[in-house]
Amino acid sequence: MSDDLWHFIDGERVAGKSGRTGDVCNPATGEVEKSVPLASADEVRVAIESAAKALPRWAATPPAKRAQVMFNFRALLIEHMDELAHLVSAEHGKTLEDAKGSISRGLEVVEFVCGIPQLLKTDYSEAVAGQVDSYNVRQPVGVCAGITPFNFPAMVPMWMFPVALACGNTFILKPSEKVPSCSLRMAELLIEAGLPKGCLNVVNGDKEAVDTLLDDPTVSAISFVGSTAIGRYIYETGCKNGKRVQALCGAKNHMIIMPDADMDQVVDAAMGAAYGSAGERCMAISVAVTVGEETGDEFIRRLAPRVQALKVGPYTDTAAEMGPVITRESKEKIERYIDEGVGAGAELVVDGRGLNLQGYENGFFVGGTLFDKVTSDMSIYRDEIFGPVLSTVRAQSYEDAKQLVLDHEYGNGTAIFTRDGDTARDFTQSINVGMVGVNVPIPVPVAYHSFGGWKASLFGDHSIHGMEGVRFYTKLKTITARWPSGIKEGAVFNFHAGSDGGH
Ligand code: NAD
Repeated sequence: MSDDLWHFIDGERVAGKSGRTGDVCNPATGEVEKSVPLASADEVRVAIESAAKALPRWAATPPAKRAQVMFNFRALLIEHMDELAHLVSAEHGKTLEDAKGSISRGLEVVEFVCGIPQLLKTDYSEAVAGQVDSYNVRQPVGVCAGITPFNFPAMVPMWMFPVALACGNTFILKPSEKVPSCSLRMAELLIEAGLPKGCLNVVNGDKEAVDTLLDDPTVSAISFVGSTAIGRYIYETGCKNGKRVQALCGAKNHMIIMPDADMDQVVDAAMGAAYGSAGERCMAISVAVTVGEETGDEFIRRLAPRVQALKVGPYTDTAAEMGPVITRESKEKIERYIDEGVGAGAELVVDGRGLNLQGYENGFFVGGTLFDKVTSDMSIYRDEIFGPVLSTVRAQSYEDAKQLVLDHEYGNGTAIFTRDGDTARDFTQSINVGMVGVNVPIPVPVAYHSFGGWKASLFGDHSIHGMEGVRFYTKLKTITARWPSGIKEGAVFNFHAGSDGGH
């Protein structure tokens, strides 16, 4: 028996009316736990109208007052951390520690926008000509929407709505239908924090809901995080419809291991970066490029037993290092890629297929998988697998290793492990990837910097959160003003006695 979820519109839980629903599973057991309503176009329009109605007052609310709501929300997130982490883990499957870590990263974005009065300050030029001054203001874009993926049910929505709201916009969130509960709960916490009703609406749904957001002229800006195929569609359709769009997409992140790298550090880094969260991270390392035969041999010799020993289990098992993947289709897709890698001639060092956990026989588990001697023509190298599969490519030189990254379709993250400053500097300077680590395997920027890839990993002109987020969610206006020169003796100003017009 599954529980029914809802939409959250105009500050209230609203039951779905479309008659269409989706299953929300516990990936560890394979059981359907909840049923999520999939919104019709009409239901989405109700949410858009609610956001449009709330906009003028919220946009006119002083930034310091909007920041106060964010301060309150921050306190509530901390108070409800355990509850939110359980919601994340129960629907996504990641360990509780991972879930809490991801909520903390979202929390950092909320902390960043607590400083929104300072962040919205702009330039002023006195006397650009004669008695003329010129200055900029950053104003809200309007009604904004966010479409988010399954892999970070709390963090990715928090990359978006806190920044949008703090900038004075209202927001419609369409979370992944696989993990809707955390977004619904955060929307309630925001009401408790003092956000006026209608400023944040959550509509659950699929393509129909997304297409309605893309087509409705009231929606001015769309943030998307998800796969490249859908992101490209959203970017193209949204732009065609005159909206501002940022679409953060798929990835294939390379870690280059130079012969002088600290191998203890490398192996620890590869374990966390390739297998943490079952590889379902857009910044996961999915390719290790070893430079020189000896480096490759040592890497595989030391990594293989660690991958073999990875403890896979449900999030309720506190000893588990890695949980299940999100769906049965996802498990089957990952196992198909492993078959293809074997078929193409890669060396399968650790095989995660066919993992059967006692008591969780129907769970969507895939064991840690390690390939050696992968080449750039193989599908396990080219495609984003989004599972716990690490492909090792042997390169003969730094130049060959770098060329692999330069030539790859994706450009989200990459890392180089070396003790050599020249090599590291050349890499950071010349690589065509958005986020680069030097001896840091997952170089995710902190909240006050911005997150975003290059190439097929991001469509649009703005990365997300940090100042790029503030720029995305505001429109720049430049005002040029001329005032009569001098104050004349006995001049009468048009202030009404008793009004607060002078403040
Ligand atoms: P997805 O593209 O399947 O879904 C993302 C969102 O798009 C969901 O809300 C979904 O309901 C919606 N959607 C799905 N199909 C649609 C369609 N045909 N039309 C309109 N909307 C549709 O992605 P996912 O499987 O949920 O997430 C995994 C992907 O997200 C991976 O590719 C991963 O790399 C990517 N990701 C990227 C980043 C980043 O910052 N670059 C971060 C997290 C995840």
